[in-house]
Amino acid sequence: MTLTGKRKKVIDSYTTSRARMVEDQLKPRGIKDEMTLKAMSEVPRHLFVEDAMRARAYGDYPLPISAGQTISQPYIVAQMTQLLQLKGHERVLEIGTGSGYQAAILSRICKRVYTIERINRLLAEARKVFDQLRYYNIVAKLDDGTTGWPEHAPFDAIITTAGGPEIPPPLVQQLADNGRMIIPVGNQDVQELQLLTKHEGEITIERLERVRFVDLIGKYGWSE
Ligand code: SAM
Repeated sequence: MTLTGKRKKVIDSYTTSRARMVEDQLKPRGIKDEMTLKAMSEVPRHLFVEDAMRARAYGDYPLPISAGQTISQPYIVAQMTQLLQLKGHERVLEIGTGSGYQAAILSRICKRVYTIERINRLLAEARKVFDQLRYYNIVAKLDDGTTGWPEHAPFDAIITTAGGPEIPPPLVQQLADNGRMIIPVGNQDVQELQLLTKHEGEITIERLERVRFVDLIGKYGWSE
């Protein structure tokens, strides 16, 4: 087999894995938003994990990444994305870049993604993949995301991919009117996904499924 043939085979096999992930893990669990399904079937998740993990990249579970952190299970990424009800014009803030996979999914759906990570090594690795894929509408910075990104506020949607004891007040302030925020809130073992919406300044919070995320560490999160 030629080198080109080999390369083609690798790409094909991941395409099939992605399609299977969408059919077996996402659709049966109620993911039906077309833009979410399209992004999940297109973004190469295997590029966001270490080489040794690539064969498991499309499995129905979270995986470890550098610095003791995790890339979330595909279903959780899709569910949190779908809950934001994006239409395409939005500017979205993500707290917890991690591998960069969730930001990559969002970037295929909305106008611009602002993502904040507190661990430099993770941020650097994620930026490399964004560049490799030419996902140029993702802006990433190193910081404590619990204080948000005031220079770019307000955001049409905010997603936090680490679990904290409360919804950080700066994030509520930086959410635009008619905006949606999804965030895991609870203790350090288990949290619930909370969906916060803002309408004419009024905040509504809906409590959704139980989840397990790594700690949100920062001024309005857990202390280190
Ligand atoms: N969204 C990621 C992905 O797609 O791979 C998964 C993120 S991982 C579950 C949670 C991330 O949140 C970790 O990388 C962690 O370092 C980061 N984190 C925790 N507290 C943070 C904070 N205050 N600001 C920014 N990032 C934070």
